[in-house]
Amino acid sequence: MLCFSTSAKASDFNANCALKQPNSRGKNARLQAIFQSWHILCNQHHVMSLVFTYEVAPVFVLLEYVSLKKMREIIGWQDGRGDGIFSPGGAISNMYAMLLARFKMFPEVKEKGMSSVPRLVAFTSEHSHFSIKKGAAALGIGTESVICIKVDESGKMIPADLERRIVEAKQKGFVPFFVSATAGTTVYGAFDPLIAISDVCKKYNVWMHVDGAWGGSLLMSRRHRWKLDGVDRANSVTWNPHKMMSVPLQCSALLVREEGLMQNCNQMHACYLFQQDKHYDLSYDTGDKALQCGRHVDIFKLWLMWRAKVKKRKHCCSVLQVLLFLFALILSLFFLYPQHTNVCFWYLPPGIRYMEDKEERKKHLHKVAPVIKARMMEYGTTMVSYQPQGDKVNFFRMVISNPAATFEDIDFLIEEIERLGQDL
Ligand SMILES: *Cc1c(COP(=O)(O)O)cnc(C)c1O
Repeated sequence: MLCFSTSAKASDFNANCALKQPNSRGKNARLQAIFQSWHILCNQHHVMSLVFTYEVAPVFVLLEYVSLKKMREIIGWQDGRGDGIFSPGGAISNMYAMLLARFKMFPEVKEKGMSSVPRLVAFTSEHSHFSIKKGAAALGIGTESVICIKVDESGKMIPADLERRIVEAKQKGFVPFFVSATAGTTVYGAFDPLIAISDVCKKYNVWMHVDGAWGGSLLMSRRHRWKLDGVDRANSVTWNPHKMMSVPLQCSALLVREEGLMQNCNQMHACYLFQQDKHYDLSYDTGDKALQCGRHVDIFKLWLMWRAKVKKRKHCCSVLQVLLFLFALILSLFFLYPQHTNVCFWYLPPGIRYMEDKEERKKHLHKVAPVIKARMMEYGTTMVSYQPQGDKVNFFRMVISNPAATFEDIDFLIEEIERLGQDL
């Protein structure tokens, strides 16, 4: 029961699931062409110019405008209304969201600082990304003011526990101001139940953020977007095209439902850039919404890929397909049905497969993944990350977002783990 069924091979699986492998060659050629033109453009036209005002980067300001609007439409906000910004990454997008939530509730914080506001508390699941705590530390809220909500077996936030902790915080005199639900957690790939969470947020009048850095790209997939049902109820959403959508680093967006809030929260009206008497629509001077002064041009890569009609829909599905194959191969070892392209599993070497003593077996199992990983690195063949989580000892976490990954790669991975670990 507790061993790999290595007899299953890619060819069987292919025949069974009747789904064609993606033509990775053709896709790669197209991607390569895009990035070649990108590099040429960078070199010839100094695309490294900065996005702060319309006059400095008119084309990029407009590309950001149309792309952010499109992303908001995909989230489900009416007519794509709202606001947003491209930031240096998901961690920064999450911090922006926290900053906006605080400003929305206590606008005086901008001038007077944290001493002018009561003790604020934020809520996120115990499986959420560490950037929520980092953001709280950076904004002077403090990591102790981030309350971690319990998750169920599959790693999803439990809304009843969220409500309980909000009530508890209020009783202590704290002010709940921010809930961050995760769409695609980093380890399990779990999707928090957004509709139930939004009900709690609404009831207690708390800003709802969705950290979709990892799973947000499933919004592009007709088959998988239901996993984010309720995302349109959020006040803000982090979405990283530089993860699942394969846009090269860096490309992350924060989408905000309320218009104008970002501008009010962050603007400083530097008079050498943002003169109020310019002869064009000042809403195109987007730079004052950011914490940075000059911003890197991140939009062009995404826009080119979008225009080139690289089928992200197919991409998500094909990657998920390859991962489901991994899941099928190791069916006897998983502890979780994959919700995204994260597959978490143990390898049980023959030496501990039939150990009676459960505690003893756990102790041994904890050491297996690190040893195999070390051997992988020594042989230079492959690398898979591992970690413990809660009461679960070290397990492998295989995540793929590369559209060129094939069923054969998965066969290789499994055989390699078995080869390197069978004497343990
Ligand atoms: C990767 C990730 C982040 C951080 O994104 P960066 O772009 O690496 O800063 C935040 N949240 C989740 C859920 C992630 O998976």
